[in-house]
Amino acid sequence: MKAWEKNIRKVVPYVPGEQPDKVKMVKLNTNENPYPPAPGVKRAVEEFDYERLKLYPDPTVGKLTKAIAEHHNVDADQVFVGVGSDDVIAMMFLTFFNSDKPILFPDISYSFYSVWANLFGIPFERPALDDNFRIIKEDYYRENGGIIFPNPNAPTSVYEDLELVEDILEHNRDVIVIVDEAYIDFGGRSAIELIDRYDNLMVVQTYSKSRSMAGMRIGYAVGNPVLIKYLNDAKHSFNSYTMNQTSIAFGIEAIRDEEYFRDTLAKIMATRERTKKEMAALGFMFPEPMANFIFATHEKYPAKELFEALREKDIYVRYFTAPRIDNYLRITIGTDEEMDQLIGFFKEYMK
Ligand SMILES: *Cc1c(COP(=O)(O)O)cnc(C)c1O
Repeated sequence: MKAWEKNIRKVVPYVPGEQPDKVKMVKLNTNENPYPPAPGVKRAVEEFDYERLKLYPDPTVGKLTKAIAEHHNVDADQVFVGVGSDDVIAMMFLTFFNSDKPILFPDISYSFYSVWANLFGIPFERPALDDNFRIIKEDYYRENGGIIFPNPNAPTSVYEDLELVEDILEHNRDVIVIVDEAYIDFGGRSAIELIDRYDNLMVVQTYSKSRSMAGMRIGYAVGNPVLIKYLNDAKHSFNSYTMNQTSIAFGIEAIRDEEYFRDTLAKIMATRERTKKEMAALGFMFPEPMANFIFATHEKYPAKELFEALREKDIYVRYFTAPRIDNYLRITIGTDEEMDQLIGFFKEYMK
């Protein structure tokens, strides 16, 4: 070992789903949207003046922040924009979780949370979800340094109603509570309606799933302006120009097109309902999905075996080796044609 090794910060990174570069594949492994971004985004891409790239972007991300605020009927000072919600949440861990007491998040949830906690040296505890992958709200009544959970949850697709969210808020007035709503648009009700009553609530959303713009990297938080200011202070102590010119320009167009957004969501939810029926008929079991993916286990075929067999045929789904979920597949809802290929594969395999 080199002498300098001992001074190096060593971390165990998050492992994202693979991004294979194949012409013909069915990609259902990272919860991307199978439909293109809104038509206004295409226009903005075509009209974008490449000379603008010589200038730094607006460090306040003013226009995009304003567009997002208008969409949610809040003030611009209640919105913080970042490079995907991963960037927003990382900034929140750094800024809000600065206590000696452990932060709390469910044992089965977004696996990035423990990575950030370890990176920043934040103690954490992970109360176990019940056997149906539901949050046990009483587990969050204990003393803690902050709380974060995804709703709907990832990778289970389970949605908890706002009563549970509010109950957790009621019992935690003295710490920051973050609700990660990466999948809220696929059928849930956003906790943004609670921000005026809870000054310690932060709600995070993203363009990556419901707005078909994972490649553009746009995420944001909505909540108390005082907390938003602390987030901006942390951001400007790190890198002021995180949001690039194109993300800002295209992001504004995407959030303005409500009709296209609703249409795309309706299509994905309809495909989800169809896929649910077909998978149940094949012997799969899954909690009621409220996101753009289904978290399924099969009574007879081990998930790992199915995952590998699918991969052989260039059908990509996600498989996790973590305890309690290592016999499940997380399957993104793609187009009807893509789901037909998936179901067709299962029918053939299980014959
Ligand atoms: C996808 C996802 C994110 C991150 O999305 P970004 O692409 O960084 O906006 C955050 N939380 C959960 C639960 C997710 O599934």
